[in-house]
Amino acid sequence: MTAEPCSCNDALGGAHLFLDDALEPAARSMIEAHLRDCQRCNHTLAFQTNLRATIARAVTSEPLPEDLVRRLLDRLATEPGADTADA
Ligand SMILES: [Zn+2]
Repeated sequence: MTAEPCSCNDALGGAHLFLDDALEPAARSMIEAHLRDCQRCNHTLAFQTNLRATIARAVTSEPLPEDLVRRLLDRLATEPGADTADA
């Protein structure tokens, strides 16, 4: 008897654990085997991987230095607006 085939539900249900590397090796290899055979889950997981990478980049990107923000705000406040310019 061969190992139980992993269903799409199982594969996608464990996807976040799979991506977190938090699965038991047995469960992990079951999902990997399913991904090799199932285009749909493969695409879904690739999409989630990309999404995570994008979020991770956004979260870890450096915030603007505070003094730069202050200078920009000062400049915006002192910059003459279009309606105060000579016509
Ligand atoms: Zn599948």
